[in-house]
Amino acid sequence: MPEVKRPVKTIEVNYVCDACGHGMMEQKGECNPATGENPHACIICGHEQVFKWVSYPRIVYVGEGESL
Ligand SMILES: [Zn+2]
Repeated sequence: MPEVKRPVKTIEVNYVCDACGHGMMEQKGECNPATGENPHACIICGHEQVFKWVSYPRIVYVGEGESL
């Protein structure tokens, strides 16, 4: 198969804290490779939340003209 190329744009995905509604959640500590549990804490109020198999903030790429 030949290489295929296309332009993409870069999107940052953040998760707004469920507790205070203002801070962004940030990864805190290590992802557990067995369970996928990924501890995060709010940068403003310190609220802790565990996400499974995802971390924030994260970067995704989408094709130009496409949306998430
Ligand atoms: Zn918060």
